[in-house]
Amino acid sequence: MKRWIAMLLLLSCLLTLLPSAMITASAATTERSKGGKLIALTFDDGPSQYTKTLLDGLAARGAKATFFIVGQNAEYYPETVRRIFNEGHQVAQHSYTHASLTGLGTGGILTELNRTDEVLTKCLGMQSSFILRPPYGACNDSVLATIGRPAIIWSLDTEDWKYRNSATVCSNIVNNAKDGDIILCHDIHQTTIPGALAAIDKLQAQGYEFVTINELYRRRGVSLVNGKSYYSCRPNGYDSGAAMVPEVTTEPIYGGVKVTLTAGEGAKIYYSTNGLEPLKNGKLYSGPFELTEGTTLRAFSFYNLNGDRSKELKKEMPLEPENMPEIQVIDNCFTFTNLAEGLDIRYTTDGSEPGANASTYEAPIPCYNGVLKYRMCGLGVGTKTKTFYVSARGNLFIDVPTTEWFFDSMDQAVSAGLFNGTAQYVYEPQTSMTRAMFVTTLYRMMDGKSFTENAKKLTFTDVEKDSWYEKAVFWAAENGIVNGYEDGSFRPNLKINREEMCVMLDRLFSLMHLKESVTELKFADNSRISEWAAENVKHMVAAGIILGNDKNCFEPQKSATRAEVATVLVRTLKFIEASEEPETPSEPEELPEPEAPTEPSDSEIITPPDAFEP
Ligand code: ZN
Repeated sequence: MKRWIAMLLLLSCLLTLLPSAMITASAATTERSKGGKLIALTFDDGPSQYTKTLLDGLAARGAKATFFIVGQNAEYYPETVRRIFNEGHQVAQHSYTHASLTGLGTGGILTELNRTDEVLTKCLGMQSSFILRPPYGACNDSVLATIGRPAIIWSLDTEDWKYRNSATVCSNIVNNAKDGDIILCHDIHQTTIPGALAAIDKLQAQGYEFVTINELYRRRGVSLVNGKSYYSCRPNGYDSGAAMVPEVTTEPIYGGVKVTLTAGEGAKIYYSTNGLEPLKNGKLYSGPFELTEGTTLRAFSFYNLNGDRSKELKKEMPLEPENMPEIQVIDNCFTFTNLAEGLDIRYTTDGSEPGANASTYEAPIPCYNGVLKYRMCGLGVGTKTKTFYVSARGNLFIDVPTTEWFFDSMDQAVSAGLFNGTAQYVYEPQTSMTRAMFVTTLYRMMDGKSFTENAKKLTFTDVEKDSWYEKAVFWAAENGIVNGYEDGSFRPNLKINREEMCVMLDRLFSLMHLKESVTELKFADNSRISEWAAENVKHMVAAGIILGNDKNCFEPQKSATRAEVATVLVRTLKFIEASEEPETPSEPEELPEPEAPTEPSDSEIITPPDAFEP
């Protein structure tokens, strides 16, 4: 029996020796066998109002730290907790109320820890594990048996809470720090922050690296064990190195590139290709993937997301060619020009994404009502998709979707030359119209009808000389379309409202000697129509130019959007056209074919039920 016991003892000795023997073996195979000088700075009891300054200082120095956070403080500073995590520091816990755990039973300890875990998880918006520093360093076997995680104590106490002096904090660190120390500080004292940062500067100059607890132990080949306490991690001749920023290699394929990401041994990679933060929106890399449009690749490698990860890689993938083709309408066809040699245009006309199998542009595309999407493809090239809403009349829109109730009105108004875009192919249909814009559209509608030199005498105090709307205002003033305000102003940038629009349009009707009829107004909000506008509104309603909304309200003081104005002007144009028709009855062959489909009547212009219909 004694021999068996001796054998067992020998075996257990060998087993105890095994981990360090393995570490030595790994060390022999790594180039970093000597390792860097590492220190884990730790900050307890926060976050506080001073933590942000500390984080700024750590970021400026590329130093990482570990924050042992008190749960109830995290509830006051959730943004700061998020920032600690996002900037690559380690979020750890320090109980919920800063209770001495040795004075609590199992239930009490678990309540303190679980509440803090919950708060920190909520702050981070993701699941993680949080190592513990017991408040006051108070720890015993029953605490260790309960906590279910490693307990991290310290090897160097700055006693910052006692001295409250930056210079003392700094010298306590610099004079005593040794490789592998875990240093205790508190980020609830203002004096600690400059003291700790100054110490970092001095020790970095001596070749020290500031790392999180997780990185310190991982690099020295030590796995933290639940229920054990740790004071320091002295050099043992082994350093597996910091998590390396992932490396990207690309291989050109048709319409894009194939991307391969590599990281250090044992590290995983998180990445995103939508430009968003990879920590929250990323995917775990599992092998090469294809990128088929120009984008920003963001990635980092990690051994532990909370406290042991690399800096982020951010790279614009070089897929965009130097020259994108231009699109124009030529002979009622959508035509691409400025085509790059060796690259294809892939396009669709049904709203689907133009993938590598989509049609290749070979000839101009006859105009149609719908969506035109296209992108450039080539070996190693794949651009973002461009989307245009297009019309059979030969218009291109970026912001006037074919599915909107105002598409047809905007399309007609643009074809009639009433609207210029605010940028190329941009028409801002939902933007309110100003008085200057409205007068300009009326002026364009009356093209060829000009003003005399006398008009220039009818100046308003606030019409800017040589402005884009100046001529329109001259014309409108001379023809009595606008009178301006009593103070001599025109107020060009004021939004035009619906009753003002009626007044100006009615004056235009008079100017053109169009037939005018009057109708009794039956709107629910008749009483809100201003007295000076009532007659004009009656004329415009009788002519069918302006209607109430689905609640039978006229909304006289509501400002009009560009889309609404387009609808009103298109009706006006039709009214003018209809008024002119009887004057040319002598040439019947020029009248439209009776069976030809007519333009949709006003009642067919579809409006969503809650939308305002002019
Ligand atoms: Zn504490």
